[in-house]
Amino acid sequence: MGEFELIRHYFAAAACARAGGDVVLGIGDDCALLALSAGEQLTVSTDTLVAGVHFPDPCDPYLLGQRALAVSTSDLAGMGATPIGFTLALTLPTADSGWLSEFARGLDAMATGCAMRLIGGDTTRGPLSMTLTVFGRVPAGEALVRSGAQPGDLLCVGGTLGDAAGALPIILGERKQGTAEAAILLRHYWLPQPQLALGQALRGKATSALDISDGLLADCGHIATASGVLLCIEQEKLPVSDALVRFCGRNQALQYGLAGGDDYVLAFTLPSDELPALLAAGWPIHAIGRVATGDGVQLLAADGRAITFASQGYNHFSG
Ligand code: ADP
Ligand code: MG
Repeated sequence: MGEFELIRHYFAAAACARAGGDVVLGIGDDCALLALSAGEQLTVSTDTLVAGVHFPDPCDPYLLGQRALAVSTSDLAGMGATPIGFTLALTLPTADSGWLSEFARGLDAMATGCAMRLIGGDTTRGPLSMTLTVFGRVPAGEALVRSGAQPGDLLCVGGTLGDAAGALPIILGERKQGTAEAAILLRHYWLPQPQLALGQALRGKATSALDISDGLLADCGHIATASGVLLCIEQEKLPVSDALVRFCGRNQALQYGLAGGDDYVLAFTLPSDELPALLAAGWPIHAIGRVATGDGVQLLAADGRAITFASQGYNHFSG
């Protein structure tokens, strides 16, 4: 199968590749065309996933397709954006039709769930990797940036933390699959749900936000730096799932929740008077700390003592 046949058959033919909505022209020309309304800004983010680094190789191509788009789209959630579409630059060692159809099916399932359209890409031969660029829109000036946290704000997260990190020992073959807990954790790793609706609900309310990809401590460090503030996290308030605690015990669960990556839950700062209405509306928000004057991230024990932590999350070029 040639390059163009491959693109046509597996990607241009996918349901998510149909033009419509803000996509005026999709796959097939030199560029796609996106329509933006007056008073809106375009949000753009790109992510590369490399086999053996960002996902196990080999792995289930259907799950990989879903996860690749989920982790990329999560950046739109972190900005409070409404999804438009994405491009896919795919590098493949071989054109395996079974692999391609499952990968495209997984991609299409996540795209449908997130209202994302596939608008173009590139297809090349080489070691398996993929780069997805996602496009969204926000009302001008309303994007949730990292730099607006104010001393006195609450620090919040949009769900439980650490489940995906808890799945890693299973994926690496260090722990057995087959238990109910393992299934829940694996689902969090392979099927993260970009918190798009929560991000949009936080526009005009949160003072800063991001999606947690590298671990809570590391990502809170990004907000602290960008905003020029200190973020105090109360360890006892960290939301961890029952499944994770049953799987590895509370101490290890807290460790995964603090330093493990791959959660794709939103972390954000919020004036405290905004919280009751958001909770009443049913958003799964947990207040885990406060913004203070100073810099960096501080972890506090139940008695208020500062806890020192070694691991800061994943960094490709550290060490
Ligand atoms: P060009 O040479 O002009 O860059 P290509 O031959 O690479 O164009 O691609 C032809 C068309 O197919 C373009 O519209 C491109 O965006 C699209 N395309 C290529 N690869 C993919 C892919 N993996 N997924 C979706 N669209 C793709
Ligand atoms: Mg090309």
